[in-house]
This record gives sequence, structure tokens and C-alpha cells, in this order.
Amino acid sequence: MPLAPWAWLSCCGRRRDEHRLEGRSLLPENTPHWELLQSEEASPPTFEMSEILHPILEDAPLWSLKPRGSSPYTWDGRLLAMDQGLPKPLAIFEAGECHVVRRGGPRPLLQVRWIQRDMGWGAFTMQNLAVGEFVCEYTGELLTDAEAESRCTGPGRDAYLFNLTTPQQCTRLGVQVPSSADMADPVFVIDAYEKGGVARFLNHACGPSHAANVTPIYAYTFDSEEPVDARLPHVALFTNRAVTKGEELRYDYGMPPEAVQSADGAARHQPCLCGSSVCRGRIY
Ligand SMILES: [Zn+2]
Repeated sequence: MPLAPWAWLSCCGRRRDEHRLEGRSLLPENTPHWELLQSEEASPPTFEMSEILHPILEDAPLWSLKPRGSSPYTWDGRLLAMDQGLPKPLAIFEAGECHVVRRGGPRPLLQVRWIQRDMGWGAFTMQNLAVGEFVCEYTGELLTDAEAESRCTGPGRDAYLFNLTTPQQCTRLGVQVPSSADMADPVFVIDAYEKGGVARFLNHACGPSHAANVTPIYAYTFDSEEPVDARLPHVALFTNRAVTKGEELRYDYGMPPEAVQSADGAARHQPCLCGSSVCRGRIY
């Protein structure tokens, strides 16, 4: 993620008071707290990270859905859609203990390091990854879309937000949504600016391309027969091609040109330096 050159992030391991939304606890356990520090140091530190963090979703389902059919994974735990080059699924559904997007599942060792002034930090795999392999989960604070927008007062702040499902997408999953819903806007957003897992360090690359080697997927988990809330998927990142040890991991943020606006309502743009053959020239 782009950052001012004088700033680095430190993971100090503290937990702040849990953020609460609609009376529910919505922060993952042991979420790292990333603190922006100002420093004159020329060499920001490198982190090696393999943690997987999972939001706690204590559901009070409003829009619910039921688990579906057969496993979306290959026998060795890779995502079938990626393995076979199929279009990415809107969601995958998991149940029981035999799934990959889960604490204790496969955890590739990732390294977070400073790239350069224009690029900021980046995340690199420290081992070879097969196509369809789980990389990490996008975690952070879970906010309403309106609250997330209210936090985005500075340049680049939006790049740490990940939109969860829109009412339109919930409909495609078989969920009946209120007629008053704004179909195109997500109800909830994950904000990883201050707190979140390693996924916050994955840079953008325009895709589909060789550069955009990771694809985010919405994933729902089922620990019982209870339905889950379609508005609150996990976001699981999978490789969409074989990735070699040492490669940077990047995915297409998919932000439309008008996604970020300044206080006066004018569209703001961030140039893209991904270098891919399909580069759109901007991240947003
Ligand atoms: Zn690009």
C-alpha cells in the first residue's frame, strides 16, 4: 500500500477496546494493531507473517442463506475454480472442520517488506504456491459503509477498505433483501487501516493478468445448522496461478474510477504502477 516515505507501520500487538456494531462483537481475536510512526530511518523493518485471523461473527441473521452442495476444493485443499481456470465464484460455502480458510489450516509464510517510495509496502510469498491455494484472509474492523466513508478523509485511506457483499450480490446468492436496500452499495466494509491481518499489505495489480496473481473470494463458514448472514462473508484470498517463492502477491482492487471522492465531491485518482499489459493506469 502506498505510504508517505517517512512513515512505517509497526505491529505492536495491542488490542484496543472492541469495536461494537449493533451490539455484536465484530473484531477478530488477536488482531494486530498497525500504528503509523514517523521516522527518519532509511530502512523500515521487514515482517514475516503467517497468521490467519478470523472475524468473530456472532450472527443475528437478517439476510440468511443455507449451505450448498459439494466441496469447492480439490482433494488437497486448493480452490477448484482457480485450479480449473473458471470464473471466480461470488462465494464459497464451508462447513465442519475440513475447510482451508480456517485457523490451523495451511498457512503460507509471507514476508512484508518495503518496496520503494512510490509503492510503499508489499507482501511476498516465501514458498512456492500452487494455483488455487489459500493465501490469507482480509481482516480488519467491520464497519457500516457509511462509517467507513466517514473515516476516509485523507488521500489513499480508501485503499485499506474492502467492500463486503452488496444487496445485489446477496440476491444472486438466493437471499431476499429489503426493497428499500440500495442494491449497489455494500452494507458492511472491512477497514484494515489501523487493525488487520497481512492482507492489508497486498498491493493492487490490474487484472486479469500475470501480475494479479491472487483473487479475493467471499467465503461463508458454517459451524452448525444455523444460517449465516449473507452480508458478512469472510474474504479469502487464493492464488489464481502457480506463484514462485519470492514473488510479490497482488490482486485487482476493482475500484471504479469514481470510487474515491474528495470533500468537494470531485473524483480523486491514484496512478497505478503495476506494469501489467492490461494496466488501466489508475488504481481508482
Ligand atoms: Zn495497473
